[in-house]
Amino acid sequence: MSTQSYAEREALIIAPYAMHSVNTQGRHVAEEVHPYRSPYQRDRDRITHSSAFRRLSRKTQVFTRELGTNQTSSDYHRTRLTHTLEVASIARTLGRSLRLNEDLIEALALGHDVGHPPFGHAGEAVLNGLLTEEGGFNHNRQALRIFEKLEERYPDRAGLNLTVEVLEGQQARGDKKPRSGAEPIVEHEQDGRLLETQVVDAADSIAYDAHDADDALEAGLILLNDMESLQLWRESIDRIRKRYTALSDAELRRATIHELIDRQVSDLLTQIHVGIKEHGLTNVEQVRLAPTLACHSTEFAELKLEFERFLFTQVYRHPLVLEHRAVAIDALEALFQNCLATPDRLPKVFQSVITQESLPRGVADFVASLTDDAVLKGNYQIP
Ligand code: MG
Repeated sequence: MSTQSYAEREALIIAPYAMHSVNTQGRHVAEEVHPYRSPYQRDRDRITHSSAFRRLSRKTQVFTRELGTNQTSSDYHRTRLTHTLEVASIARTLGRSLRLNEDLIEALALGHDVGHPPFGHAGEAVLNGLLTEEGGFNHNRQALRIFEKLEERYPDRAGLNLTVEVLEGQQARGDKKPRSGAEPIVEHEQDGRLLETQVVDAADSIAYDAHDADDALEAGLILLNDMESLQLWRESIDRIRKRYTALSDAELRRATIHELIDRQVSDLLTQIHVGIKEHGLTNVEQVRLAPTLACHSTEFAELKLEFERFLFTQVYRHPLVLEHRAVAIDALEALFQNCLATPDRLPKVFQSVITQESLPRGVADFVASLTDDAVLKGNYQIP
């Protein structure tokens, strides 16, 4: 197999406006070209094999294991890892339909949440508060620290040494203002991002809107009837009711969730296809100069906003969720203070951060790397 095989394959399959891996700006530490894996395939594999990625299996998305009024909910809900896999799956669907670089999309999607601390956004808020003087804490920027510094995979260099395109995609996530779940997506006149990055961002939102509703319904935090006030849900459930009769509540819920994902993906694809045509995009430079293309239609964006506002008030602010948040906050703060007092007990990589940057930053890097269980059970060993 020649070194040209992946380049030739991409030239045949992906669009001129996609990011072709032969045009990569490379890595900070130059490496030899692999005989048959493209640079973005290698990035995807590096992320999948990282310990930060594996630990996502025991980190909270929204719901902790104990949460919910339904006995079966503890094994049902998404973790940060299964969320990530759903994002990757949706993003690849978008990417294949648009003839984008799926390897790059997969690398971006699988890596997008590796910077999440334990206990989801509750954990992020705690660390951000504790690091006010150090410039704060943000899970998107934390992923970059993991990629560039904290992950130890090579004897001769720090981090994963990913391509510039994967790093810039993650950087763009870190630069944007965090959404509260009740604010509209901001469209830019000149987006600057590759389409591969834009679709991963959109896939993230499609995935969590659908699965957070599904998990909340399964856990009994909200009821199917509560959702009927939302036009997006009502339209989706009506389509399912027309297609099937005599469904149980669980069957109806699952089918509606699938419909919800399908409708969001279809609307987005239509909009992006129109945008590509309208702007006559034939290369990535034009993509960067174009406005944000991965946006829903105006009418659909309004329905999605109504849906997200509902999730924000009825799910993310549900008393049971807040109760678990409080437990998580206490545990995380206590651990942070313990580590501040005994930094010499931290693994070596975090001790170098303390020396090179600051004590709170090194402690935050360590605490953020832990799983929910490790914090709650006091088991802090990092393999
Ligand atoms: Mg995400």
